[in-house]
Amino acid sequence: ALTAGIVGLPNVGKSTLFNAITQAGAESANYPFCTIDPNVGIVEVPDQRLYKLSDMYQPKKTIPTAFEFTDIAGIVKGASKGEGLGNQFLSHIRQVDAICHVVRCFQDENITHVSGQVDPISDIETINLELILADLDTVTKRMQRVEKMAKQKDKEAVAEFEVLSKLKEAFEEEKPARAVSFSEDEEKLVKGLHLLTSKPVLYVANVGEDELLDADANENVQKVKDFAAKDEAEVIVVSAKVESEIAELDGEEKEAFLEELGIAESGLDQLIKATYQLLGLGTYFTAGEQEVRAWTFQKGIKAPKAAGIIHSDFEKGFIRAETVSYDDLMEAGSEHTAKENGNVRLEGKEYIVKDGDVMHFRFNV
Ligand code: GDP
Repeated sequence: ALTAGIVGLPNVGKSTLFNAITQAGAESANYPFCTIDPNVGIVEVPDQRLYKLSDMYQPKKTIPTAFEFTDIAGIVKGASKGEGLGNQFLSHIRQVDAICHVVRCFQDENITHVSGQVDPISDIETINLELILADLDTVTKRMQRVEKMAKQKDKEAVAEFEVLSKLKEAFEEEKPARAVSFSEDEEKLVKGLHLLTSKPVLYVANVGEDELLDADANENVQKVKDFAAKDEAEVIVVSAKVESEIAELDGEEKEAFLEELGIAESGLDQLIKATYQLLGLGTYFTAGEQEVRAWTFQKGIKAPKAAGIIHSDFEKGFIRAETVSYDDLMEAGSEHTAKENGNVRLEGKEYIVKDGDVMHFRFNV
């Protein structure tokens, strides 16, 4: 399963945020495929559509879908040179599919900042530089191996050497790999390098609890937003402290508290949704009298593979999928009417599943 890693310098609020994630905790019994690891938090994906479907079908059970955040502690300046938990940190980052980079924007004299003052851009650059240096190392080593073959005009080696040179140049200008544009073929080579700075990133601006309502008045948040815009990355504003309080509340209490704060959606919920997008994940639904359930799939997969997420037998014996889009189903008001309207399609093995599809799989056992 795809996972997003939470990174940031010490004392920026990572643990507080991660605790909120585990507190909000999904019932892991529903998600046997998820990892049981103290550094992994399972979050349910907030999705209004699931509850609308549940209203329509009135099932016995309604189950949201979930995915994982991994807490990656221990980055300090010099990590790429093995400082602190450097190497361990980098190998953990290598295993995640997207990065949520937490940045301290709150002021609090009681909480020490590693470099002496709150300066989000310098913080971001410190971490990004460590990742770039680690990638530079990867690329340089690879170049040494490919160079000889490239000199002998081996076609593949020449192509790879070119890609590596392009990357090296970017890293030397302190640019991440994701900022470099490549052709489709080159992209494949880059993928094979498993670079840290190829991973998609979003920034999490951690503000003081009294700043949530007007976060843009916090000049550090503005700075992070300007920086992220250049990186084409999204910024989510949270107050980790508030999130840890919200995480202790259940449904109605939570809504009342949010209303009191004057915010429509908790920072954590925003973060979960944005990260889901960042990971390239989508949701399809299964719906019936017994159960209405949301399932996570990687965008771009075909129907049999999507069926396999529920059970491997569904994939092996896949025949076809009765499919209706969420919007069509809602407009029709019931599955029966949707069928009469001709909105329920019979899709085969080549069908590429879309976010919001409501599916019944037919399969041979
Ligand atoms: P980590 O080292 O990045 O994991 O940081 P922690 O989550 O341990 O937070 C460091 C300290 O900052 C703790 O004492 C937190 O209570 C505090 N902290 C975290 N978020 C906030 C916040 O939004 N406002 C204030 N005032 N303190 C915070």
